[in-house]
Amino acid sequence: MKKLFLIVFTILIAQTISAQTISAQTSYILCGKLIDTKSGKIYKEKTIVVKDNKITAVKDGYITPKNANLIDLRDKVVMPGLIDMHVHLEMEYDDKTRINKYILDEADVAYNSVKFAETTLKNGFTTVRDLGGSGVNISLRNAINAGKIPGPRVFTAGKSLATTGGHADPTNGSSRVLIGNPGPKEGVVNSVEDGRKAVRQRYKNGADCIKITATGGVLSVAKSGDNPQFTIEEIKAICEMAKDYGMHVAAHAHGDEGMQRAIIGGVKTIEHGTYMSEETMNLMIKYDAYLVPTITAGKEVAEKAKIDGFYPDIVVPKALAVGPQIQGTFGRAYKKGVGIAFGTDAGVFKHGVNGKEFGFMVEGGMPAMETIQAATITNAMILKMSNEIGQIAEGFFADIIAVNDDPTEKIATMENVVFVMKNGIVYKNK
Ligand SMILES: [Zn+2]
Repeated sequence: MKKLFLIVFTILIAQTISAQTISAQTSYILCGKLIDTKSGKIYKEKTIVVKDNKITAVKDGYITPKNANLIDLRDKVVMPGLIDMHVHLEMEYDDKTRINKYILDEADVAYNSVKFAETTLKNGFTTVRDLGGSGVNISLRNAINAGKIPGPRVFTAGKSLATTGGHADPTNGSSRVLIGNPGPKEGVVNSVEDGRKAVRQRYKNGADCIKITATGGVLSVAKSGDNPQFTIEEIKAICEMAKDYGMHVAAHAHGDEGMQRAIIGGVKTIEHGTYMSEETMNLMIKYDAYLVPTITAGKEVAEKAKIDGFYPDIVVPKALAVGPQIQGTFGRAYKKGVGIAFGTDAGVFKHGVNGKEFGFMVEGGMPAMETIQAATITNAMILKMSNEIGQIAEGFFADIIAVNDDPTEKIATMENVVFVMKNGIVYKNK
């Protein structure tokens, strides 16, 4: 009995100590301006109270209790951590990318991705959706979640699904010796049955969502950048199966026919959307699908295509034709009332410059505040995280960033994030 008392007593003491440690971790963030993404309003002089990894209060004025951990952002504009719905954390495209496929081991890819994840986080993106790599991105997510390495919250598709010779067929452009015959396990699907199996395989591997390449793509070593590459039955089977496992489906699509099949088939987001017709925009609205514009990627590939030898010859005409179209299509889709998510396709270009997309969206006709709402409120909703991320409010994760200027006056400020907190931990404060 005496022994039991001692044990209970020890546990009580331990709890008291840990409670004290927790209260010592309470931070008061003084915000010169604070963007309320829900209302689209900007407030002056607010204090955010952060305890552990959560926001516990947002108060009027500057609150500065004695001995509290104060974070002074009185000359900054504070907002929730940004969400990018389209990145590839395993790679950064350059003139060695094609050969890398054959000379890098998974461990090399993993080491590279550590730096890309950190760069992304330090530029204000506290959450990303990784739309496809080899599957190393699943281990990357796990390492970040376990606190082993710094990085954003990652929702990953693992490996994208394609059809044989399609945009994400991993052996495209290889010699006959290496071309093999990849199947559902490797993410190559040629029937309804294959589609179901490929989704279940992604679930087994630990993916959070599914990505399909509904049409040809710019950077794959193949002729067409926009032809439809799945039948509607295959897409329906994939979307229905994904739903059973609580996953949504993202569809890479440049061409209109493949886009229509994807929307009717049940995908949640259309990536790029380059040649989207008015009819397809109406379908997007009807089926509650969202466009992820990736304007930055379009501009970057069109620019890089002008450098001799940067891309394989077969890619160059596609990059020159597709790239410059994306911003115009985005502008028309926005005007028409299509739901817009925020996503860049970072990895196709340098990680960390994701913030450029805001300026391109404003240039395309979307007001600055709405671009920030797309990167917070809308993206959180698609990820089914509306009550956890995308806002600075009580009970939300302490994912908080700051910039120097008011983005509604100077959108380029989004390219220079000066403060980053994720999950209550400060990763940048300069
Ligand atoms: Zn992509």
